[in-house]
Amino acid sequence: MPDKNSNWALVLHGGAGAVAGRDYAETEAHLAELASLCRERLAADGKALDVVEFAVAELESCGLYVAGRGSAPNSAGHVELDASIMDGATREAGAVAALQDFANPVCVARGVMEKTPHVMLAGTGAVEFAREHAFEEIEDPSSYYTLPVGVTSDDVSDIAHGTVGAVAMDTTGGLAAATSTGGTFGKLHGRIGDTPLIGPGTWADDHIAVSCTGIGEHIIRAGGASSIAFRYKSGVSLDDAVQEMLDEVKRLGGDAGVIAVTRAGEIAMPYNSEGMKRASVSSASDLKVLTFAED
Ligand code: ASP
Repeated sequence: MPDKNSNWALVLHGGAGAVAGRDYAETEAHLAELASLCRERLAADGKALDVVEFAVAELESCGLYVAGRGSAPNSAGHVELDASIMDGATREAGAVAALQDFANPVCVARGVMEKTPHVMLAGTGAVEFAREHAFEEIEDPSSYYTLPVGVTSDDVSDIAHGTVGAVAMDTTGGLAAATSTGGTFGKLHGRIGDTPLIGPGTWADDHIAVSCTGIGEHIIRAGGASSIAFRYKSGVSLDDAVQEMLDEVKRLGGDAGVIAVTRAGEIAMPYNSEGMKRASVSSASDLKVLTFAED
């Protein structure tokens, strides 16, 4: 492990599905508040892994994004939740896919990482595991789920997307990433996108932590988060490494957004959709919260 220093960095996203013309003041205020809480934890030597789990759990619980409480039903009428988390220092990872009716899929994903020899549990197996370990279950799904801010019930059949994610570097230089989603609206029963996949949706190693959002099918086929990490490790700049993956998603017909932090404290949060709800703050930079292009 590296020596402790005073550098830390955080980026959050609330999905690359922002639609031009809609008002995202509420999600921007929420992201600002959450990033400030994370800033306090990182500045007080909190671990990157704990901070990304905390941030994503809050993004899931608030109902403002298409993850956790804000998720919408799939084509069969069920909400199916996907989440993953990865610790760069140990390269340990956990994920859940098509999990039904637990409040914080990202915490269940961390449970999979810490309490099983596996990386991912899916469907009824994930539910059994989450029950066995007493993760918070949703007692009344019909009253729990809400449509996220800016999305009306008319949009449910569209492929609007609004995954959440967090990447962080802590004062030991440790990196971590976590991502969670209710998936794309109108998805088929059983469909799993990039979000719970360690590699495409979420990646963290000793150099970089990355979380993706956008149309999962295209992100998977473009290589996603780990392809950015491998480019970066081979000497490509952070901005170019991220842009090359986004260009590949575009070439394949999709759109996406990426958040990344590096061990050097660099931050990236570009997208090629209309907008991406996002926030960043670090020991070297002020809090920044944006949904569309910077002025
Ligand atoms: N990537 C997510 C998925 O395909 C959706 C999103 O990012 O909004 O499930």
